[in-house]
Amino acid sequence: MKKYLFLLGLAFASMIAVPAAASDEVVVYSARKEHLIKPLFDAYTEKTGIVIRYITDKAGPLLARLKAEGANTPADMLITVDAGNLWQAAEQGVLARIDSPVLESNIPAHLRAPDNRWFGLSVRARTIVYNPERVKPGELDTYEGLAEPTWKGRLCLRTSKKVYNQSLVAMMIERLGLEKTEAVVRGWVDNLATVPFSNDTKTMQVIAAGQCDVGIVNTYYFGRLQKKQPNIGLALFWPNQQAGGVHVNVSGAGVTAHAKHRTAAVKLLEWLSTPEAQEMFAGLNLEYPANPAVKPAAAVSAWGGFQEDRLNVAQAGRLQVEAVMLMDRAGYR
Ligand code: FE
Repeated sequence: MKKYLFLLGLAFASMIAVPAAASDEVVVYSARKEHLIKPLFDAYTEKTGIVIRYITDKAGPLLARLKAEGANTPADMLITVDAGNLWQAAEQGVLARIDSPVLESNIPAHLRAPDNRWFGLSVRARTIVYNPERVKPGELDTYEGLAEPTWKGRLCLRTSKKVYNQSLVAMMIERLGLEKTEAVVRGWVDNLATVPFSNDTKTMQVIAAGQCDVGIVNTYYFGRLQKKQPNIGLALFWPNQQAGGVHVNVSGAGVTAHAKHRTAAVKLLEWLSTPEAQEMFAGLNLEYPANPAVKPAAAVSAWGGFQEDRLNVAQAGRLQVEAVMLMDRAGYR
């Protein structure tokens, strides 16, 4: 009889648990743009009944806001781009550790924080782009190679102020050491055809127009440009295939240290790492899924496979200050 009452109690508990969970919500601060996250949130709400409220802004202001709000923050989750930014958020104490076997099995170790405060959800490669009318792929080899005199007046880069370049240089410091990396960055600066650009798209347009021959960009910007102009005269090259791999970075998320809906936020983050969500999360922005069980979109697969850098992307954050100082010393603006 006792056992029967216990079971009845369990059944009742789960009955009342359903509407309580359905009225639950998760509040997200996102540096990833609305059109890249809303379809996922809509799908999740439809599936679970959990309402997701969100704001979007740039990474810096969102982190500042989280810090200023402290324990009073309404945010349960932070979604942001670049391991450098994720690392900063963890370092400043706004993200909580999550012990989740789901996340640990879905997201490879080099794409998440060693202390599980954030998890990469999509992967972008920062690789070499070239004008095939002016460069043969056989002339290309490594990021370091772009510092050779043969590229004098032929290289175009985005500004060093962008975290993507800070992360790239940080990972080079990790692999090559400070001295060698500085020599490489000085070589790049010597080879510039013109002053650095404010974004990757502009950099590619200038290469396609023949003002320079080669540059370094994130793959999804290439994908966007290719979608708009299928015949644009540009091609991707995968560098460092025998020397550390292509530099990859992530967009990712963590649950906030003061989350009011922590359990629901962890569940949402876990769902974002599953094949069902990963295909959409990466596909909407022409990125690579962080979950290796999921294939990239056809347009992305068409660029071919490559060896990626397997060093933990958290190093991009740890060495960010060193990278910024190094680029400044080398005259990379
Ligand atoms: Fe971007």
